[in-house]
Amino acid sequence: SPRKLAAGNWKMNGLTAALSELDALAARDNGCDVLICPPFTLLTPAVAHAGEIAIGGQDCHAAESGAHTGDISAAMLKDAGASHVILGHSERRADHAETDASVRAKAVAAHEAGLITVICLGETEAERDAGDTLRVIETQLAGSVPDCATASNTVIAYEPVWAIGTGRTPTNDEIAQVHARLREKLVERFSDGAAFTLLYGGSVKPGNASVIFDIEHVNGALVGGASLKAADFGPIIDAL
Ligand code: 13P
Repeated sequence: SPRKLAAGNWKMNGLTAALSELDALAARDNGCDVLICPPFTLLTPAVAHAGEIAIGGQDCHAAESGAHTGDISAAMLKDAGASHVILGHSERRADHAETDASVRAKAVAAHEAGLITVICLGETEAERDAGDTLRVIETQLAGSVPDCATASNTVIAYEPVWAIGTGRTPTNDEIAQVHARLREKLVERFSDGAAFTLLYGGSVKPGNASVIFDIEHVNGALVGGASLKAADFGPIIDAL
């Protein structure tokens, strides 16, 4: 059965002082896999403060190295001590024109470097309103997840775009429907599809985490705002 994972995406937040939050998380008895993805500038110190907590990047380039100013390679993340990388977050799909094909290429590079990928997908509000949610997430899953994906090297995060940073979440039934479809499609395509960790992300807070974690095929969360403080993320970890 899938491993449970509480993952925090710090996005473009976190100066050196934020390492004290990692110290607080590392000092807890967490009882499940915990991942923090700080900004690139904090990766190396974060590894030193992380204890048993895994550290990940928030993106990587598909190429091994070369003339790509401002980008970072999977091997650089690995070299800095990261074990994971978030790929295809909706903010990168929107702000940096990432496509399913580019996310898939990045995932291949990440797996070749020995990183575990956290591949994100999710519908916009307009797509949900149009009744297109399942079609959109199936297309993103098929296009963003490479053939080399396994339950050991790939985590899938369902993050409805309209639920990110808004305080709004889908209903439990809506989350259950998407996660059931993700599981079904993974089982169809991969021999170990039943074992992939499936995360929900979008306005997960201490107050709603346990209800969301009770939903079938929800194996954890990808948390933004509420991962920045150990006082918020700790109770979410405990709910898992
Ligand atoms: P929030 O938890 O702030 O809604 O962000 C979710 C997210 O985008 C995590 O990747």
